[in-house]
Amino acid sequence: MDCKDILNTTYQQILNEENLGAVASYIPELAKVNPDQLGICLITKEGSSYSCGDAQTPFSIQSIAKVLSLSLVFSKIGDDLWKRMDFEPSGNAFNSLVQLESENGIPRNPFINAGAIVMCDIICDLFDDPKKELLNFIRKVSGIADLSYSQNIANSEKQTGFRNYALVNFIKSFGNIKNDCDQVIELYFHLCSIEMTCEQLARTFGYLANQGKQFKTQLEILSSSQTKRINAIMQTCGFYDEAGEFAFKVGLPGKSGVGGGMIAVLPNSYVIATWSPRLNTRGNSYRGIKFLEEFTTATQDTVF
Ligand code: GLN
Repeated sequence: MDCKDILNTTYQQILNEENLGAVASYIPELAKVNPDQLGICLITKEGSSYSCGDAQTPFSIQSIAKVLSLSLVFSKIGDDLWKRMDFEPSGNAFNSLVQLESENGIPRNPFINAGAIVMCDIICDLFDDPKKELLNFIRKVSGIADLSYSQNIANSEKQTGFRNYALVNFIKSFGNIKNDCDQVIELYFHLCSIEMTCEQLARTFGYLANQGKQFKTQLEILSSSQTKRINAIMQTCGFYDEAGEFAFKVGLPGKSGVGGGMIAVLPNSYVIATWSPRLNTRGNSYRGIKFLEEFTTATQDTVF
């Protein structure tokens, strides 16, 4: 069976199985989505693209966007980034505050909320108009010239983002936020508000499967060494306190978001994006993980 057949067969199989979990409702705007949608898109380095189900429906990519903020900061300041945060798994929930107390406001990694908030602080330092420059970067990487922030989602998150406000203030108390807390958290909420389809997501992250260069255009986003490091952090931290289980079951580096989206990368080969809004208790897509587990089991092709 080739990749396309395995994708279709796995898609049908997952559709026929029970769909467990619940959509994220702590951001009110996310709770409005039809929970039983399922989209898949795989794009290969050679240029083939295969889609199933709701692959053309835009959804909130949420924390998948943290890979983009990391890519921007890493490309601008290189290894100086690691003076402000670590690259170790946290083994805790994405929005946890507990380790910051004993670790002096240094987040464990760039993919938990604490780390992404520090990255937003660095972006505020780098640019006069950080919101505009971050969006320009995401437009460049994705190739979507008219991409915008979703004001509805950003506002919705602002109304209920109590933990994120706590995080930015807590980190600032240790001196690891340099800018005004309101400015930093505003940028963070906008980062998380980006919407894309599975097809756009798979295309956006082609550079992670091609040594830092986009598939078709060969546009360089990162060096090959930086790309290796981002993939390593996705492998160990991309699914928060479920990162070990994801590596165990799927065997690919990846990143999830509470909108139900996920990306996974087979370096030098393909990027796959999945979307199914019902989340498990760790905030990762129930069907997305099931799908990828079945898919990589059938293809027998993983980083391990
Ligand atoms: N915007 C979300 C939050 O800060 C992102 C979390 C996620 O996608 N895991 O809570």
